[in-house]
Amino acid sequence: MQHFPDAQAVVRALRPEEPVILNRPHAAARAARFFVEKFPGRALYAVKANPSPELLQILWDNGVTHYDVASIAEVRLVRATLPQATLCFMHPVKSPGAIREAYHRHGVKTFSLDSVEELEKIVVACRDEEGNAATDLRLCIRLRVSSEHAALSLAAKFGCDLTEAPALLQQTRQHCDWLGVCFHVGSQAMSPFAYVQAIDRVRAAIAEASVVIDMIDVGGGFPSVYPGMEPPPLEDYFKIIHQHFYALPIAYNAELWCEPGRALCAEYSSLVVKVEKRRGEELYINDGAYGALFDAAHVDWKFPVRALEDDLIKPGMDFAFYGPTCDDADYMPGPFALPEDIQAGDYIEIGMLGAYGAAMKTDFNGFGAAERIIVTDEPMASLYDGSRTRPEADNVVSLR
Ligand SMILES: *Cc1c(COP(=O)(O)O)cnc(C)c1O
Repeated sequence: MQHFPDAQAVVRALRPEEPVILNRPHAAARAARFFVEKFPGRALYAVKANPSPELLQILWDNGVTHYDVASIAEVRLVRATLPQATLCFMHPVKSPGAIREAYHRHGVKTFSLDSVEELEKIVVACRDEEGNAATDLRLCIRLRVSSEHAALSLAAKFGCDLTEAPALLQQTRQHCDWLGVCFHVGSQAMSPFAYVQAIDRVRAAIAEASVVIDMIDVGGGFPSVYPGMEPPPLEDYFKIIHQHFYALPIAYNAELWCEPGRALCAEYSSLVVKVEKRRGEELYINDGAYGALFDAAHVDWKFPVRALEDDLIKPGMDFAFYGPTCDDADYMPGPFALPEDIQAGDYIEIGMLGAYGAAMKTDFNGFGAAERIIVTDEPMASLYDGSRTRPEADNVVSLR
């Protein structure tokens, strides 16, 4: 991969016709070290946020040893990239073939589930050739929790209800000697209180079940920073999670896990796009809803933008973007503030696209190409550069 200092240098040197993904390895490394050093337990990486092998390697090199995978393709990818990594198959609905291959071929022991059917599927798929049950399974019950504090809900699809949880915990305990409870508060949880509510549910479930619990996994949902979404410092989340974890009725040596996706990689990438046409307050750019800007189109996510030309002198005004495909839905309402005199041929950098951005690109309509380049400047916003910590938080240590 080529290296440049920043987006402007890329545009000056290359005037790229296709979109370019700019990767910042130092930003991903800093996020990984932050979680490894400050989260009061084990931090897994949720691979779906961005499965790029370069990123996986950076996270590994900076202390992330466990990976949350959700498909057999993710299992194979992480196993091929990081042979020593511990993989945890945390999708509660898996195919028998995926479970079999993960367990027998790739050494996956940890699986999540939210139903008796899935428990039976796992138990059968992990038997040996003589039909003996596996004795080394580590199973994790996914509990349904509220998504009310999150920008993106994950509450509807997965997770067993509080009424079903005690029986499922008791039944699952008979098939494993390491039992966990996991949940997901929704992505981009803007308040640490989301985790308090969820841990209270865990408490209710395990009190009722009265089984020994070896692990609590508070899932993902840790926020990054976007226009209009400025979360409290992550230290606040860690502290409140730790306090509530300690008060749970669980094994004295129970582990605390989390599995962030967004928070570990949002700062890793930005995108350089070219304006192909201007129509009033609408800019036609060369990436969009079927590219790295899926969330900007489909869930109205706001990303920071900046113009990359030196000769734009007018003050900012609000623009909407059209992407390159022929589909009307390839539209990103923004608003994106850019200089009033921006025009066709100019370049724009769109920031904070390392999570659920670069990973979302498709080839629809022939517009999938994007070169990847390494840059060394700071991401457009950061939770980890020391600028957002609160002096009064007692566990703050600057990482700079
Ligand atoms: C998507 C997902 C994550 C990561 O969520 P973020 O909001 O990106 O942190 C973690 N765990 C599970 C089970 C997921 O589905």
